[in-house]
Amino acid sequence: MDRLADTEGRIAMKRCYFCKGEIVTKEIRHIHQWGDKIILFEGIPAEVCRQCGEVYFAPDIVEAMDKGTMQAEKAKESVKIPVISYRELVKT
Ligand SMILES: [Zn+2]
Repeated sequence: MDRLADTEGRIAMKRCYFCKGEIVTKEIRHIHQWGDKIILFEGIPAEVCRQCGEVYFAPDIVEAMDKGTMQAEKAKESVKIPVISYRELVKT
């Protein structure tokens, strides 16, 4: 499920939509998957539920990340991400 689209417009809430927990503003890392692209965003301002960890983004933040996704090849840094298939994990 794409949470970026899902959480748009709910940003004004002071309480978590799911668990009614307290929401705090902080900068987070966010992994965004778009098609077969995976982009790691850093220092993203977000509203995060203290209780369940649900993350909410303001519409302008979503817009900025969408823009970043389109310009992923211009990123200054890249990281290697381990890829593990379930089949490997259950191999005996
Ligand atoms: Zn919550």
